[in-house]
Amino acid sequence: MAKICVIGSSSMDLVVTSAKRPGAGETVLGESFKTVPGGKGANQAVAAARLGAEVTMIGRVGDDHFGEQIITNFKQNGVSVSHVEPVTGMESGTAHIVLAEGDNSIVVVKAANDEVTPAYIDRAAQVIQTADIVMIQQEIPEETVVHVSELCAQYNVKLLLNPAPARPIPAQVIENAAYITPNEHEASIIFEGLSPQEALRQYPNKLFVTEGSNGVRYYNGEQEIVVPTYKVEAVDTTGAGDTFNAAFAVALAEGKTLQDSVRFANRAASISVTKFGAQGGMPSRQEVEAQL
Ligand code: ATP
Repeated sequence: MAKICVIGSSSMDLVVTSAKRPGAGETVLGESFKTVPGGKGANQAVAAARLGAEVTMIGRVGDDHFGEQIITNFKQNGVSVSHVEPVTGMESGTAHIVLAEGDNSIVVVKAANDEVTPAYIDRAAQVIQTADIVMIQQEIPEETVVHVSELCAQYNVKLLLNPAPARPIPAQVIENAAYITPNEHEASIIFEGLSPQEALRQYPNKLFVTEGSNGVRYYNGEQEIVVPTYKVEAVDTTGAGDTFNAAFAVALAEGKTLQDSVRFANRAASISVTKFGAQGGMPSRQEVEAQL
């Protein structure tokens, strides 16, 4: 069984649908409201567990009701929560989402996710040391990402960095990471000044750029490879990137080749876009294998 450690954010998404988006100072009546667990770290942990990996999440929640719900959701999906500790006197991370007029507006409050600090990570060093792969994203403090990358280098554990949301990455993190998986927008910010081709050539077999319905592009040291994704009826692409990253990590941890790992991850992500919600669409191992 692949052992995966996910270090990142957990939050509760508060989703409102409304015919009209309120302007400044305006109140409108909405149509529906629901709460769904989210956060890139949590999404990737849940996706990896559904794909059959043994997953430990390292993250933080508030000491509020959302925190309890987030932890329950991890447990229901088989994710180990021994390193998801509530922060006393603090709220859980939340994303306030308005779906209106065919688009979304989102306000994110990081709250407890800012407490995923280097010192907190050190308390879980054993989990990192014994993982086949560590996954991390950028919804937690940058100094934590730097610290984790150094621990992984020190322990000789592979680190998969999903650099989302976009922000420049310190050079030593790029150096320490085994795999980096931006989408095209994130890649253009991280490798500003380089053309997409130049960036790929600089990081052979390390940089994997996801290109939505086109699939994934990387450079294998000799040529650029595009691994096409699968044609599906896309209903909701939220969480496609999270599913891709989790499946990629699971396949790599199981020893699949790079190209087979990308193919497996494309299949998992393409299934995820056929259903609503980030975690709602994340497939089981059987679903992916049946369609490979
Ligand atoms: P998101 O932020 O929506 O979760 P992202 O912007 O991080 O996603 P994308 O490049 O859009 O990442 O998608 C990640 C992967 O998901 C793609 O490489 C592909 O494998 C799969 N995917 C995304 N959209 C589609 C689609 N319409 N059809 C099939 N596969 C898709």
